[in-house]
Amino acid sequence: MKEIILCKYGEIALKGANRNQFEKLLRDILKRRTEPYGKFKIYSVQSTVYIEPMDEYADVDGAYYAAKNTFGISAVSRAIIAEKDMAAILETVKTQFMPYIEDARTFKVEAKRSDKKFPLTSPEISAEVGAAILEASGGSKRVDVHHPEVAVRVEIRDYAAYICAGQERAVGGMPIGSNGKGLLLLSGGIDSPVAGFMIAKRGVRLDAMHFESFPYTSERAREKVLALAEKLTAYTGDIHVHIISVTKIQEALRDNCEEDYFTLLLRRFMMRLSERTAEKFACDALITGESLGQVASQTMQALGVTNSVVSRPVFRPCIGMDKEEIIRISREIDTFETSILPYEDCCTVFTPRHPRTRPELCKVEREEAKVDVKALEDEAFETLETVVIKQAR
Ligand code: ATP
Ligand code: MG
Repeated sequence: MKEIILCKYGEIALKGANRNQFEKLLRDILKRRTEPYGKFKIYSVQSTVYIEPMDEYADVDGAYYAAKNTFGISAVSRAIIAEKDMAAILETVKTQFMPYIEDARTFKVEAKRSDKKFPLTSPEISAEVGAAILEASGGSKRVDVHHPEVAVRVEIRDYAAYICAGQERAVGGMPIGSNGKGLLLLSGGIDSPVAGFMIAKRGVRLDAMHFESFPYTSERAREKVLALAEKLTAYTGDIHVHIISVTKIQEALRDNCEEDYFTLLLRRFMMRLSERTAEKFACDALITGESLGQVASQTMQALGVTNSVVSRPVFRPCIGMDKEEIIRISREIDTFETSILPYEDCCTVFTPRHPRTRPELCKVEREEAKVDVKALEDEAFETLETVVIKQAR
């Protein structure tokens, strides 16, 4: 039996003159992502990419899940390939296809001919395949054209016929790399991995930036962040995680500045250091997991104060979401369980008891002037190290 994976494009299908470029990018990504699962031929016809195993060793399940999690694809299905001949199609339905629709009690058949020379019309093909399924099911299935549990598709293409049972929704979005590169500020929390996922979904390649505060934060906190990055690689491919120590900055703030401003001042340092890192690694935007009003440092005024030190756009896809929505996505992308591991983040050391919720920029700047910003920033930037996280299989 020969199987093939069919992937429907999402938004790429709406592209105009540059559509070919997007399609090629998507095929290249699929090639890379299916490589660990064996030899596959990947090609596109109309708005579908085909992933065809080249030998019997290819792991079709593995490739199917990789495709389902590839941005740019809106739906996936598995099809059996049959010879392009009605008798062969009916034989394949009866002998090989039935397990695919084992659980469905009702079905309908939709046939499509891209080869108009095929001797039967689409309704005729549907009727014959429908009859074959009814016969093979021995009375356990019936046709329901309005609300079938499964829609069986038969496609008559140039070289073969494909028979498939329904399709599953895939992750959608745009292929990674079609929309530049961004730097995700990745803490160990719930929100930032979700923010990274959402922006990556728009076709943005991600680098990650993490600030640690050793010995106030532990080695395990770092491992947790790397584990979160690894979870994201299931969608994004390899991620470079840049790590900077802000220990000296935090100690300087603690020793010199008014406590109420600690978090805001630290966040301004993080933004500046992120921008320098973005500059160094050619990232055109910063991405954070901030959500309006979630904590004192995420009020409109506080966001204004932290934003004012950088010139790159800062994307905050969680800004209008409440915690429940963010958690729902983090469960879907499988980062939640890692995010809730209880290790200290640098934002939780030296936290003010009464953080300013409506900070005024001039007061923040006055506090900030009590430390040598440039020297602290340079010294912190010297600690930058990069860990490459490979795409998890
Ligand atoms: P999260 O769940 O993402 O940790 P949070 O609600 O805890 O978010 P904050 O700790 O105020 O919020 O951080 C807001 C955003 O700032 C985070 O979503 C993240 O993008 C960035 N950030 C915070 N701490 C760090 C850190 N140690 N390293 C890198 N980025 C950070
Ligand atoms: Mg946090």
